[in-house]
Amino acid sequence: MSITAAASIATIKTAIDALSSIQSAAVLRERIALIQDQMALLEKAAGQAEAKIADQAKEIEELRAEVASYRETEQYAEYMGALFKRKPGGRNGYQEVPYCPRCHTAAGRADDDTPYFCAACQWFSSFNAGEVGRIVRELE
Ligand SMILES: [Zn+2]
Repeated sequence: MSITAAASIATIKTAIDALSSIQSAAVLRERIALIQDQMALLEKAAGQAEAKIADQAKEIEELRAEVASYRETEQYAEYMGALFKRKPGGRNGYQEVPYCPRCHTAAGRADDDTPYFCAACQWFSSFNAGEVGRIVRELE
């Protein structure tokens, strides 16, 4: 049986309003039974609504995680095997520091003639540190 909560509440209100004019106990019992039936329907509807809210809260949580992951991915561009982070605040261009493509850690450098490296996972860039300015300009 499909019934809305508003319809159940309206039926209950009507039944309660009608109680004052009832003369016989049999009619009173009938009205009380009707109110109890409507209350049962409301309990069922409330349970379904709670379950639906719980499902939707879970879905929102999953979508939030997906958006956060997407934002994280969108702030980098991959080029020559390294990640370059977009400049903050919506400015055009990329920061002149490559990030590790595996763990997104800012890469370190020893000098211009050796590759960048990730201390966390031992990744090395395919280019030497001294080339990063040219590479970022190519990327832009
Ligand atoms: Zn790494």
